[in-house]
Amino acid sequence: MALAQENDSVTQFSGRTEICYGDNAINTLETLKGNHAFIVTDPFMVKIGFADRVISGLERAGISQSVFDKVEPDPSLETVQKGTVQLLADGADMIIALGGGSSIDAAKAMMFFACKADPTRKKPRLVVIPTTSGTGSEVTAVTVVTDTEAQLKIPIIDPLIVPDVAVLDARFTRSVPPSVTASTGMDVLTHALEAFVSTRANAFTDLYAVHAIQYVFRYLLRCYRNGDDMEARQNMLLASCMAGMAFNNSGLGVTHSVAHTLGGIFHIPHGTANAVMLPYAIRFNSFDVRDRYRTIAKKLELPCDTVEQGNESLIEAVRWLNSQMGIPGRIRDLGVSEEDFSNAIEAMAGHAMEDACTTTNPRRPSKRDIRQLLRQAY
Ligand code: NAD
Repeated sequence: MALAQENDSVTQFSGRTEICYGDNAINTLETLKGNHAFIVTDPFMVKIGFADRVISGLERAGISQSVFDKVEPDPSLETVQKGTVQLLADGADMIIALGGGSSIDAAKAMMFFACKADPTRKKPRLVVIPTTSGTGSEVTAVTVVTDTEAQLKIPIIDPLIVPDVAVLDARFTRSVPPSVTASTGMDVLTHALEAFVSTRANAFTDLYAVHAIQYVFRYLLRCYRNGDDMEARQNMLLASCMAGMAFNNSGLGVTHSVAHTLGGIFHIPHGTANAVMLPYAIRFNSFDVRDRYRTIAKKLELPCDTVEQGNESLIEAVRWLNSQMGIPGRIRDLGVSEEDFSNAIEAMAGHAMEDACTTTNPRRPSKRDIRQLLRQAY
């Protein structure tokens, strides 16, 4: 870090999380060292028996546990606050996040606030078990919490919350219904594509991003059409993690900035908002990074004789993938009325301009640009 401050031309890539994956990845829990684990999850994970499966692994390791199972989709500041109080009282030396991005982010935010509240306490070890493919949150320094009153999704970025261990066991993703498979899978694609064209993309982030993009085009529809296709499930879980590795180092772009505000105001699932916005954002960025998009088109073996053709093919491929999974092409088809949209557009453009993801978008947008982008997508 010091080096980078002295010399702006130094490029960095870091991947701190120990990634454990494969058929029996959950057995990793039996090898953990610790006394007491605080499990952060949602009620569905308890109902379906996933929390029990985690608890038995911890029991075999001689680790006691308590469970916070109140996480809702897009975790609110109130939920995070409640969990933080419980975590501080609990004295856990380990946090286990079990669930989709919402549970993982809630756990990361609780750890963040607990460490700030009591800096004398040793940071608990953070072990993450993602059950969607997904956010990549199992390897990132990012957590997104929702201020429900201000209708704002707030990203917190801090190296403190990079998970120590990620357990990628695809059996936890088998039960994901097709609609969630679709939206979370398009989140993976958006992470990887935005990482690839980000102003901070580098040789290492490119490797992860390209691999993730190829995997999404190869395996996402298979997961969507047959949730029991475990080869596809496993590879989408890897793609999700790789995309996380990429964007954790490169940052993201305007697709995410706009998706955050669409989620905050209209409660559109994060991946769906990204999926709808992505083709518009590619066109918006084309002037600045058209060769990069053509490179992706080439990797996907899409028509790309000219740069223009490469860009159009990529946009069409994303639209096609959306359409195959029932994701609409416009915001108006997500149940947002014209009146509500018009009333919110100014606030949305303002939020998107201030979103951290906008800073690494290849084209530096004006507020008017964002308004226009939103209108086009509507
Ligand atoms: P989610 O965690 O909100 O889960 C969506 C729904 O799917 C929930 O109802 C959940 O119970 C259900 N679900 C999860 N796993 C399941 C399974 N195996 N079987 C059946 N149902 C299951 O969805 P998500 O897309 O994983 O996460 C979205 C959240 O992550 C958003 O709040 C978003 O802002 C955040 N996010 C964070 C990062 C990051 O780097 N921290 C990146 C992208 C998104």
